[in-house]
This record gives sequence, C-alpha cells and structure tokens, in this order.
Amino acid sequence: MTRIVYVNGNYVPAEEAKVSIFDRGFLFADGVYEVTSVIDGRLVDFAPHADRLDRSLGELKMAWPVSREALREVHEELVRRNGVDQGMVYMQVTRGVAEREFTYPPSSTPTSLVAFTQARELVDNPNARTGVKVVSIPDIRWKRRDIKTIALLPQAMGKQAARERGAFEAWMVEDGHVTEGTSSTSYIVRDETVITRPLSHAVLAGVTRRTVLRLMAERGIRLDERPFTIDEAYAADEAFLTSASTFVMPVVEIDGRRIGDGQPGPLTRRLREIYIEEARKG
Ligand code: PLP
Repeated sequence: MTRIVYVNGNYVPAEEAKVSIFDRGFLFADGVYEVTSVIDGRLVDFAPHADRLDRSLGELKMAWPVSREALREVHEELVRRNGVDQGMVYMQVTRGVAEREFTYPPSSTPTSLVAFTQARELVDNPNARTGVKVVSIPDIRWKRRDIKTIALLPQAMGKQAARERGAFEAWMVEDGHVTEGTSSTSYIVRDETVITRPLSHAVLAGVTRRTVLRLMAERGIRLDERPFTIDEAYAADEAFLTSASTFVMPVVEIDGRRIGDGQPGPLTRRLREIYIEEARKG
C-alpha cells in the first residue's frame, strides 16, 4: 500500500510529495517537529505534543501553519488513510520558502507543514522484554535543547555511534552528568526511587516523561528530580529511558556494565505496564 503523506494542505502518495530547495528547513534546519505515538489507531497525548510545539514555535518566533484543531485533524486523517494501528505520526513545521538569507523572512511568509505516519509495533516491542544496551558519549549539542528543532545532526551521530558499538541508544554526558538520550529521556532507579534530571534548557521536556511522572505521583512511587552521573548510572538498581516511540524501555547495560542483574528491573516493568494501560485508555 502506498503511504499517503501530508504536504501543505494536500494528502499525496509519498513518492509525489515535494518541497522547495529554498525551504528554510532544508537550508538552515530552521524548523521544529513532534512525534506522536498511535495505539489502537488513536493518538496518544496529542494535547501535550501540541503544547510543546507551541512553545518551540514561540521560542523561534515562528507562526503556526494551521490551527491546533486542524493539526489534530491532519494527524487523525493520516492515521485513517494509512490504516495505522500502532506507530507514530511525525510532523514538522519550517519557516517556509524564502531567498537564502540568515535573517528571518517577513512574517507574512507562510510556514510549511509536512507530516507522515510510520507503522510500528510499539506495545509488543521485543526490546522491552530483554531490555536494551546504552553507551555514553559527550553531549556536543547547542544550549537550547528544550526547543524541539529539526537540527538533529549531533543526535544522528550519537545514535550511529551507539549502533556501531552494538547499543540501542547513547546517553549524552555533560560536566560528568547525563543530560538525556539522543532521542529519549534517561532515568535510573536507586532504592525504589526514580531519579531523572529536572527540566531546563539542557534537555527536551519529554511528553512521555510528563505522563510517567504523573502516573508515578498518582501511585506514590518516589521521584528524585536531579542530575545524575554516569558512575551513578553504572551502580544503579535499574535504568530505563522513555520516548513517544519506545514508551518505557528498560536499560540493562551501560558502557558494557550490567545494570542490576542484567534483566529489566521490576519497577521499570511496572512503569511500562502502567504507561501502556494509560495510553490505551485514549
Ligand atoms: N529527549 C530528546 C533529545 C528527544 O529527541 C526525545 C524524543 O524525541 C525525548 C527526549 C523524549 O521525548 P518524548 O517523550 O516527548 O518523545
């Protein structure tokens, strides 16, 4: 089946979708994006993704391409047209098409919106049964990581380095502390307390993080929001990561060192179950 994608108001087969070489996303990575997961054909946590998009756009003085309601409709229509039961909707907004100048074009220039689906088994992900390996790398990114920009070369380099070392994800380290994964939020567990870095310009405010922390609070699971070192991670009882495409994913090895007994930890497994149950409620 041909994948149907969305490009500036039109639903077209993927191979017919075109954008201009003068699009500022192409020339300057001048754009922002969101990835929303789909379970049972329904969007998970669309509202907080739209809120984070609003914040990213605001920080970059970029206008919404369509209304929030229209954006939701684009997501739902893509899920419908592509028959997605589980997977993701990727969307990006760029500052539109303009002559190549570093300064922003006039605000009357329309921003562009493209979106597409990726079908993927998210709930019965085999990685979740075994847990995944992580390696640490230096965090070489810019200082506004709270903006979900499409400028992802450091993350692509990091993920590639992880793959080459046989790992699923790379945890980025700055001043001795873990900031986050290349495309996920990082956590460790010590004495039944979940430890994760507080929000700041140093990390992206994960939507999955937000939901997991709420579910933990509702169940009285202890949280210590503070930066942690990579050495603390090596010695942790459990470790895990979260993102829209992996939910809660157990980490069983970091830089070749086994975490706990090398199996997904009990608290991590419980959080994954709780998260999926919540996401399924719609
Ligand atoms: N941190 C980074 C750098 C990311 O790229 C992502 C997701 O892409 C996350 C954290 C997790 O965010 P979310 O839970 O909203 O997917």
